[in-house]
Amino acid sequence: MRIINGVKTIFGLIKDLWSMSRSEKSDFYKDKCEYYQGIVELSLVVACLTTICFLYSDYMINGSVFPTLIPRLSILAFIAVFFIITGINGSYRVMVIMDFFLGHGMVIAASWTAYNLIDNSNSVTGIIIVNLLWIVIGFVATPMDTMVNGVVYIIEIVITNMFNHYTNYDVILSLEIPCIIGITVVHYIMTAYYLDHYRVTQKLKLSMVTDPLTMVYNRHLLEKIVSENTLKVQSSEEKIAVAMLDIDDFKQINDEQGHYTGDLALYFLGQKLRRVTHEEDYVIRYGGEEFVLILRNCSVDDASARLEQFRLDIEEAKDSPVPFTVSIGVSGYTGNYSDTLIKADKALYEAKNTGKNKVIVSR
Ligand code: GH3
Ligand code: MG
Ligand code: MG
Repeated sequence: MRIINGVKTIFGLIKDLWSMSRSEKSDFYKDKCEYYQGIVELSLVVACLTTICFLYSDYMINGSVFPTLIPRLSILAFIAVFFIITGINGSYRVMVIMDFFLGHGMVIAASWTAYNLIDNSNSVTGIIIVNLLWIVIGFVATPMDTMVNGVVYIIEIVITNMFNHYTNYDVILSLEIPCIIGITVVHYIMTAYYLDHYRVTQKLKLSMVTDPLTMVYNRHLLEKIVSENTLKVQSSEEKIAVAMLDIDDFKQINDEQGHYTGDLALYFLGQKLRRVTHEEDYVIRYGGEEFVLILRNCSVDDASARLEQFRLDIEEAKDSPVPFTVSIGVSGYTGNYSDTLIKADKALYEAKNTGKNKVIVSR
């Protein structure tokens, strides 16, 4: 029963994986790599360093460590190249490629060592053990990477056999080919399983920045888009307008119509703001009945016109749970987020003090 449920779950997840768009898949693999890379990298480096200890077994075969000393130590050069390249470019594709590079560095160092051993009949064990590396790297790679790597590995065995003349070459190939097929299938299943974790994490991340009442962003989002008082999302030369919006006499609405109606009005306002703003804009519930709007690619004049129309729409809305009006303060983004917010807040204060239900621009 447990197996049947497991198979059903896996098929559901594989279907989900198949239905993902290219960019969604790329985000997913990037996330998987970021999650596992630390532990994969550590395991690979430990495995590489461990191979140096095999000098002792080389000594038992050859009666001396010298013939295999340089081949065994050559793994240090692969480790150095790994750290230099991943230090220069830490993008996730480079990371995955360099993980495989380190794995093949071990294969090359081991093949070179086998060439210098008087008896290489133990090579079969080493060649099969290397599959552990491919399993580990599979945590960061795509199943396609694993399959391509498997083919590369078999070609590597065929080539190294030309000068190492493995005593049990047929056995090596007959073991290695099913191993590669098995690892690829298992990786596909593991990847589908990670999708489950990925979806839950995505939902959690979104719920952390979403206000549960109005379903717009909450102020936690600002921790993501503002850094050192600067809007990280701004592209060069992009004009951004920041607005503060507050419901007029909301306390009175609550007192007269009840908190439930107040909540419905907040939800109505949040959803309407989402509809009138653009995909790249941010609507943030800043406090009780106060919203911050970050309008991308928008001059302060355009923002003023758009928000004036919005104010009017709210005033005349027929579908609102309760009639209400809003006051809005707007400022052009100055390059300093808190200065801009203070300017928008001052404009809002002025709107409140000069009769409410209006848009004031701070210049
Ligand atoms: P002003 O026009 O000057 O903005 O007056 P106001 O009454 O809107 O402002 P005030 O700050 O006096 O009152 C805000 C009210 O918003 C008080 C608080 O109970 C209410 N409020 C805050 N959060 C919520 C909420 O989540 N739901 C409801 N129903 N009311 C809320
Ligand atoms: Mg208010
Ligand atoms: Mg208020």
